[in-house]
Amino acid sequence: MNLRLKRHLKRAALLCLVLAVAACAKAAYTNRSQLLLISEGQETQLGLQAAQDVVKKEKMSTDRIQTERVKRIGRRIAIAANKPDYKWEFFLIDKDTVNAFCLPGGKVFVYTGILELATTNDELAAIMGHEIAHALERHGGERMSTALMLQMGGQAASMAIGAGSSPAMGQVFSQAYGIGSQVGVLLPHSRTQESEADEVGMILAAMAGYEPAGALTLWQKMDAYSAKKGQNPPAFLSTHPATKQRIADIRAKMGAIRAKYYRQQLLN
Ligand SMILES: [Zn+2]
Repeated sequence: MNLRLKRHLKRAALLCLVLAVAACAKAAYTNRSQLLLISEGQETQLGLQAAQDVVKKEKMSTDRIQTERVKRIGRRIAIAANKPDYKWEFFLIDKDTVNAFCLPGGKVFVYTGILELATTNDELAAIMGHEIAHALERHGGERMSTALMLQMGGQAASMAIGAGSSPAMGQVFSQAYGIGSQVGVLLPHSRTQESEADEVGMILAAMAGYEPAGALTLWQKMDAYSAKKGQNPPAFLSTHPATKQRIADIRAKMGAIRAKYYRQQLLN
């Protein structure tokens, strides 16, 4: 372990002690301990602001059938997520890039390029469930907290708590989400966050009435696609490697998730 990381972890542990209530939270669904230096309200506010920029910058698809499909699947997952403080909205961006993301606050963006891979509704539900899970589990907030720790160390906490949406906070948010350089290209999540988003995404999709096995076929297609692309995978696949391990983990979790959460219903 390098010195910087060691120091960072030491500070994180210390902060956890000092700010037991303010900084340390439990992830929804999985109960994992998280270091969060900003409130969910701040995160949501920044997410909603950033979403306005995305809407301004990107061209929306005029394909009414596919747009309606994205909205319908999104709405069903949103009901399963039961997050009344989110202002859910689902957008289909007309761009041939394999990408999708959800900002804190509930604005979900899917690119037409990813629909080439997510051909079935179960597969699209897997993608959207995964991205929504990143937001619900506050993975962006965790990355922001890590960035604050690395940049400002101990001062971060006092700045973060009660700082509202100051320009400095907006900057950290933009960095954590990669906004400003290229919209929708996020800094990589950690493997823990990725695996958590896979699991929670499958739970949400299953609760919404989608077959969780959609996640399996989706990542198998992603794997084949990245093999075809070789050295130049799209941004989404560079932050979401479709590794054999990932596929094996999804397969291992699928049975229990289906048994516990899959609500088979007539999908309209
Ligand atoms: Zn992810």
